[in-house]
Amino acid sequence: MSVETKPQRPILKDGMGRTIVNLRISVTDRCNFRCTYCMPADNVEFMDREKLLSFEELTRVVQVVAKMGIYRLRLTGGEPLLRKDLPTLVKMLKGVEGIEDVAMTTNAFFLKEHAQSLADAGLSRLNISLDALDKEKFAHVNRRDCVQQVLDGIATARDVGFKSIKINAVAMRDFSESEIVQLVDYGRSEGFEVRFIEFMPLDADKTWERDKVLFGHEIIDIIQKKFPMEPIQDSLEIGPASEYRFKDGKGKIGIITAVSNPFCDYCNRIRMTADGKLRTCLFSNNEHNLKELIRGGASDADLEQLIRSALVIKEPGHKINLDDFKRPERAMHAIGG
Ligand code: SAM
Ligand code: SF4
Repeated sequence: MSVETKPQRPILKDGMGRTIVNLRISVTDRCNFRCTYCMPADNVEFMDREKLLSFEELTRVVQVVAKMGIYRLRLTGGEPLLRKDLPTLVKMLKGVEGIEDVAMTTNAFFLKEHAQSLADAGLSRLNISLDALDKEKFAHVNRRDCVQQVLDGIATARDVGFKSIKINAVAMRDFSESEIVQLVDYGRSEGFEVRFIEFMPLDADKTWERDKVLFGHEIIDIIQKKFPMEPIQDSLEIGPASEYRFKDGKGKIGIITAVSNPFCDYCNRIRMTADGKLRTCLFSNNEHNLKELIRGGASDADLEQLIRSALVIKEPGHKINLDDFKRPERAMHAIGG
């Protein structure tokens, strides 16, 4: 009698020996918000729609990377829920052999109407951006007065059964301090992990300065005063966040110290922009044109070769803290956060 064994997943390494398991796919650069840390207030030039990879083209790239060893995907943007029929894409990607997990990052504005169909399509996890619970502060930072709609979207996602919901808040000095405890309190009562992300120099307005970043250790100090916590060992080896558990057992929080203590040594991800450019780092200054290959009739082996050669030169780390740091041309919404 033969015993069937599951084929072993290939291991994909970059030039530094880091194992790459994660592809973040931007499905659009468009957004219905205009967050100050990401987009300009107006006059945004978006990509022509025909430049966006189609669902079939996206799925083909995923089939190629899945054979190479990538098994986790995250859909992002821009606002991914602006892409028509997104649940259809989720289903197509979930159907690719080797893909174990499809997640999404969203501002949740349209989540109320789409949460059920996304869950039905097999979306496993949600990261939801929520920088402030205070109505005025939300309207100021997101340049849209709609915190209640976002909260309703999150509640619907919980109600339709999403088990893993994380709340992402960008941490900015002289803005976030008053929101931190409220957000943590909300996360604790709803069972969501709240993650604070240090403000990074990826804003379209190019107003980022180091002085505007609220650093991880300051965030921890604020939270500790109200909710005592202890660090969870080795959490950086699993994901980008340093995690802390509450001593009373009511959940945990994460801090993404992208500026003060980057997690680049443990980076396990690559990204693809909505117009089909492979980026090996959020802060890459060069891109690898997958769309050109795809639309030029290249074979899967050609795509694989481009991806492998890009991975050989994947950046060892970003240079925000170095004198020769050069901001990428694209702002966050056009890269895919
Ligand atoms: N529109 C979706 C959303 O906001 O969740 C997905 C795209 S957004 C670019 C992805 C993530 O990037 C969000 O959590 C957002 O807060 C974060 N982000 C955007 N600009 C940032 C910046 N300059 N620094 C740190 N995080 C940023
Ligand atoms: Fe839109 Fe997300 Fe950027 Fe805010 S962070 S402007 S919601 S893409």
